[in-house]
Amino acid sequence: MKVTMKEVAEKLKTAKKILVTAHIHSDGDALGSTLAMWQALRQLGKDAQVYIDDELPANLAFLPHFDAIKRPAKDEKFDADLLLVLDTSIDRIGNIRKMTDAPLLNVDHHVTNNNYTNDLYLDSDAAAACEIVLDILHELDVKITPDIATCIYTGLATDTGFFNYSSTTAKTFRAAAELVECGAKPNFVAEQTEKRTLNDLKVMTAALQTVEIYFDGKVAGMFIDEELEKIVDTTEGLVDLIRVIDTVDVAFLLRWQDENTSRASLRSKGTNVSDIVKKLGGGGHVRAAGCTLHMSFEDAKNTIIKALSENFAKA
Ligand code: 5GP
Ligand code: MN
Repeated sequence: MKVTMKEVAEKLKTAKKILVTAHIHSDGDALGSTLAMWQALRQLGKDAQVYIDDELPANLAFLPHFDAIKRPAKDEKFDADLLLVLDTSIDRIGNIRKMTDAPLLNVDHHVTNNNYTNDLYLDSDAAAACEIVLDILHELDVKITPDIATCIYTGLATDTGFFNYSSTTAKTFRAAAELVECGAKPNFVAEQTEKRTLNDLKVMTAALQTVEIYFDGKVAGMFIDEELEKIVDTTEGLVDLIRVIDTVDVAFLLRWQDENTSRASLRSKGTNVSDIVKKLGGGGHVRAAGCTLHMSFEDAKNTIIKALSENFAKA
């Protein structure tokens, strides 16, 4: 069921014990929104806990209260009276749904989220889940501390490519200005999130050697095969290296996961890539989307190119 901002606030006020989660393959928006919400709920005297059913990216360890995030043990339960899912539909939270029978409240900004069988607050115009979280905290009269501001600012900045993507609006900048007034430090967040190991810089040069160009230069692909996957620390930002090619509309990164699994990340300047990956079981935003392909790396590569050919191949 569609819920309003006021109903979201009401549900959070009523609940006493709240399990907060976000998507696996967590990014700055997923962790920023859950940690901001966790701090806000504790400010309100709630017994809140953040669980993410995945390994966490090391370059986000600077986020205030990062260590509060738990990964559920096998069959672990959490006796909550509300399950709050941020920045994703519930199909990307691993085994968290099995931890509690509590009613679910889903807050998201992904246009592909259409799961109204749960209580869903969806604003696909929001640049980040963190932008919605800031609205919720206002509704709840929560004090925006420097730590909360840092978490929310990180989500806004990372999900908008530091306020560059088309999802960035005047509202995003107003939110960012407020967060800086409340203590977020843009230079600190930028330095922390941009940090790469020397190893990853070397992987970057190797990854650039794999670039292939298709459809008269309109599509570029980059490939992290089994060999590169074994040495890379993070692939964050790799696809953006080829998105900038002047002729390119769609850039994609294909990443080996195991013999039968690969992950694709797509970025575009115009084409609706969320529509393209939806056909492959994925989702996301108009200009940034992804999917998991259950097949060999070679087949995954051909599948992505075929899916793109429907938009780009000449008749
Ligand atoms: P990324 O390429 O950075 O992994 O993801 C780009 C955007 O698409 C993010 O907002 C992410 O949450 C979303 N996304 C990536 N993979 C999937 C997927 O398999 N399913 C869905 N529903 N969304 C995805
Ligand atoms: Mn997001």
